Amino acid sequence: METIYNCLRDAHDQDLLLIAAAVCVTGVYASISLARHAGRLDEKGRRFWLMVAIVAAGSTAWATHMIGLLAFQPGMQSGFDPYLTILSLLLTVMGIGAALTVSIGTRNRGRRASSGILLGLSIALLHYLGQYAYLVTGTISWDHQLVALSLVGSLPLFSAAIVLSGERPAWLRQLAAPILVAAIALLHFSGMAAIRFAYDPRIGLPDTVLSPEMIAPIVAGVSVTLLILAFLGLRFTLAARAQAAKDRTRLKQLADLAVEGLAICQDGAIDAVNNSLAKLVGCSQQMLKGQAIASLLPDTQLDSLSEEKELDGELVASDGSRVPVRLLRRTVKIGKSEHVVIAIRDQRERLRAEHKMRILAHTDSLTGLSNRLQFTQTLSSRCETAEMTGEQFALLLLDLDRFKFVNDTFGHSMGDELLKRVAQRVRACSKASTFVARLGGDEFAVVVDAANAETAAENFTDLLSRPYLIDGTVIDIAASVGIALCPDHGNDLSTLSRNADLALYAAKSTGGSVHRLFDRSMSERAHARRQLELDLRRALVREEFDVYYQPQVDPSDGSFQGAEALVRWIHAERGIVSPADFIPLAEETGLISQLGEWVLRAACEEAKAWPSHLTVAVNLSPVQLRDQALAGRVMQILQETGLPPTRLELEITETALLQDETMTYNTLHALRAIGIRISMDDFGTGYSSLSYLRRFPFNKIKIDQSFVRHVPEDRESVAIIQAVTSLASKLNMTVTVEGVETPEQRAFTVNEGCNQIQGYLISRPINAASIRKIFQEPLRSVA
Ligand code: C2E
Ligand code: CA
Ligand code: CA
Repeated sequence: METIYNCLRDAHDQDLLLIAAAVCVTGVYASISLARHAGRLDEKGRRFWLMVAIVAAGSTAWATHMIGLLAFQPGMQSGFDPYLTILSLLLTVMGIGAALTVSIGTRNRGRRASSGILLGLSIALLHYLGQYAYLVTGTISWDHQLVALSLVGSLPLFSAAIVLSGERPAWLRQLAAPILVAAIALLHFSGMAAIRFAYDPRIGLPDTVLSPEMIAPIVAGVSVTLLILAFLGLRFTLAARAQAAKDRTRLKQLADLAVEGLAICQDGAIDAVNNSLAKLVGCSQQMLKGQAIASLLPDTQLDSLSEEKELDGELVASDGSRVPVRLLRRTVKIGKSEHVVIAIRDQRERLRAEHKMRILAHTDSLTGLSNRLQFTQTLSSRCETAEMTGEQFALLLLDLDRFKFVNDTFGHSMGDELLKRVAQRVRACSKASTFVARLGGDEFAVVVDAANAETAAENFTDLLSRPYLIDGTVIDIAASVGIALCPDHGNDLSTLSRNADLALYAAKSTGGSVHRLFDRSMSERAHARRQLELDLRRALVREEFDVYYQPQVDPSDGSFQGAEALVRWIHAERGIVSPADFIPLAEETGLISQLGEWVLRAACEEAKAWPSHLTVAVNLSPVQLRDQALAGRVMQILQETGLPPTRLELEITETALLQDETMTYNTLHALRAIGIRISMDDFGTGYSSLSYLRRFPFNKIKIDQSFVRHVPEDRESVAIIQAVTSLASKLNMTVTVEGVETPEQRAFTVNEGCNQIQGYLISRPINAASIRKIFQEPLRSVA
C-alpha cells in the first residue's frame, strides 16, 4: 500500500492526476447516461447510442490511463509506441463492448458478475498493453506482487460495480459508479507502482516513438469529446426526467378524474393517490404520500393480487373505521421504472343496495310481512335447529273465510286494504320475535311455541273475525287456522307445511272460523280423497256414470211437467255413489266441466224421447258457469241432440252468481236469448239476496227442501214459502218446491199457489228407462 501511495505522491504530476480523475468521472457519467438513454429508445436508436456509450466507456478508460501515464514522472525521457497505443484503445473498446453485451438487460447477478470480470480484464489489458507501449531511456522491471495485487484487488471491485448497477434499490445502484472508479484507480496505480525504471544511457527511444507532447493533444481531444458526450448524456437525462415528471402529472390529473380510488405505489410505498382515495381514507393526498400501502390495506396480500381478478378487501380509513372495498392491481411503467397501481372501489353503496334487495326479495310488498321465500328459509332452519336442540314449535296456517267474496264484491283495492288490516292484527297479537309471513292470497303463517299453539290459534280466529271498517264499509270475515307441531307432526319443511295445510283444510270444511290441530286421520282422509280423485278420473274415461231423473209435477193435478237430471256414479266396488260425495271433489279438481257436459248431453238426448211438452232440468256447477265458452257449448249440444232450447232448464245456485258478475250476467242472457230457462236452485240456503233475483234473468225459483220439511207446523218456514211465492209471482217467475215427501206438504203447496213440486212423494230419482215408462203412462193421480 505504501509503495502505491509513494508512487502516487512522488512519481506523479498531481495536477495531471486530478485531470485524469476528472476525465474518468466525466467519461463514466457520459457512458452511463448514454447507455440509459439508449435503454429508453426503440431498437434502432438504442443500438446506435449503445455503441456510442461503449466507445465512450472504452475511451474513458483509455484516456484516464493515458493521462495517468502522462502524469507519471519516471525521471527520464519517455514516449509511446504508436501502434500498441492505438491497439490498446481498440482492444479496450471491444473488451468493454463485450462485457456490456453480457450484462445488458439482465438482472441475473451471475451474468453481471462475469460481465464485471470481463470489464476488469479489458481494462487490465488496456493498462498492461499501454504499459508495454510506454517506452523510456532505460530498463523496466516489474514487482510481480503488485501486479498480482492490481488484478486480484480490482477484479472483484469491477464485478461488484456491475452487479450493483443492476440492483433495484436506487441507493445500491448509486454505489456502482464510485466503486468502478475505485477499481480503475486501484488497477492503474498499483500497476504503475509495480514498474521499476532504471536509467540506461545506452538505451534510446525508437524513431517511431510518440513523445508525451505529441500524445497530449490527442488525449485532450478524446477528453473533450467525452466532456461533450457527458453534456449530451446530461441533456438526455434531464429531458427524460422532465418527460417522466410530465407523465406523472398527467397521470395524476387523469387519476383525479377517476371515481375509483387509485394508489400508485413503488416498492410497497405510496407514491401518489388520487382525490377519490384521499377522500375515502379521509386525509389529504399529501399525507398519504410515502405511507406503506399495507397500512391502508392491512389484511390484503398485495403481491398475491392478480392483474385480472378483482379481490374483496377492507380499507382502514384515517378514523380507524373499516370500509369494504374491491381491489384491482395493475403494473404500469412510468418513465423507466415499474409502478403498481391499485384501484380501490368503495363497496358500501353496492352492499347497501344488495342488502336492500335481499330484504325486498324476502318481504311481502303489500303487508310488509315476510313472504313465502323467507317462510321457506326460516321454517327450514327452525326445523334444523329443532332437530339439534330438541326444541318444539308449532306452525299455524291462517286462511281467511269469505275473503274471495269481499274481493269479488268490493274490488281488489278493498281486498288489499283488508289484507293489510289482517296483517296488522296478526302482528299485533303476536310477540315481536314471532315469525309471521304472508304466503300469498289470503293465507298467512305464524310460528309459535308448541305449548301456546292452541291459545294463539284461538286468539287469531277471535281477533280476525271481528268486523273491519274500511272506507265506511263494515266487512265481516273470519279466519280458520290449521296447526302442525314440530317434531310430532313432521320435522321438515314440507311435511310440516303439508300437515298444517291438512289441518287448515279440515278447519275450513267444518265451516270455517275455527282452528284444528293436525291428526293422523286427516292425512288418511286426504289420502282417501286423492284415491277418490284418481277413481273419478278413471270413471270419466270409462264413462262409469249414469243420469237419473226425478219428475216434476203440477201440485194441483199431478200432471208431469218435466224432470230434473241427477248424476249417479256406478262404482264397481262401492255401488251407486251419491253426487253429494263426488261433485265437490269434481269441482275442486276441475273435472266437473267434463262431467257436466256429459250429463247435459245425456239429459238432452233422453228428453228428446219424452213427450214434447216435458222439460229437462240440468244442474250447472259454479265452476262451469265461470267458463266463458259455456253458452256456446250448451248451444252446440242442443244442436247435436236436436232438443229445442225451450225444453231445457238450467239450475244454478247463488254461489255461482258471486263470482264474476258481468260474465255470469252475459252468459245467462245469451242462454235466455235462445229460449233456455234458468232456475235459481236451493233458494233460501245461501245469501238469498233479493237483488240477484232482480239483476239476473231467472224464470224459476226452487225453494230449498229444508223449508218444506217443517210445514205446515213451523211458522217461519210457512212465512218464507209464502213470501217467496208472492215475490216470484210479482217478478213473473214460477216457484218449485223441492223435497215434498208427504201429502200434507203437497196440500200446503197447492194452497200457497206454488207452480211445481218435486220430491219422494211423486218419485225418487229413477233411471232413464223408468222415467220414460212413467212419462208414457196416462195422467196419473198422486193423491
Ligand atoms: P239438488 O240440485 O238440490 O238436487 C236435489 C237433491 O235432493 C237430489 O239429491 C235428490 O235426490 C234429493 N231429493 C229429491 N226429493 C227429495 C225428497 O223428497 N226428500 C229428500 N230428502 N231428498 C230429495 P242428489 O241426487 O243426491 O243430488 C245432490 C246434489 O248434487 C244436487 O242437489 C245437485 O246440487 C248436485 N248434483 C246432482 N247432479 C248433478 C249434476 O249433474 N251436475 C251438478 N253440477 N250437480 C249435480
Ligand atoms: Ca237441482
Ligand atoms: Ca235443489
